[in-house]
Amino acid sequence: MFPEIEALAKNNPRWSNKNPMVQKYGFHDGPNAVEGKVTKCGTCELFISIRPGANKYFKCRLRGVTHGTGTDHRVSYDACAHYKPKPEEVK
Ligand code: SF4
Repeated sequence: MFPEIEALAKNNPRWSNKNPMVQKYGFHDGPNAVEGKVTKCGTCELFISIRPGANKYFKCRLRGVTHGTGTDHRVSYDACAHYKPKPEEVK
């Protein structure tokens, strides 16, 4: 981890969320951020679910979609700087 990222992590309680895209690009704090509410990946247009078999897996299209657990993504992750609201989320 880069030293400046580590410093950010220590001072930011949201860091415990551990979204790898946030570690790479930073948090979503753009105009679509809802006041007083942390934007989550679950409302992002790039957040998808795939069902290759009986089970469903969540992925971030920007992060990459593989057939392994390495790219599994969580609905509850804090959104990264590339957040794009799903059309139904735009108000
Ligand atoms: S692009 Fe969207 S789904 Fe992917 S990490 Fe960023 S906010 Fe989450």
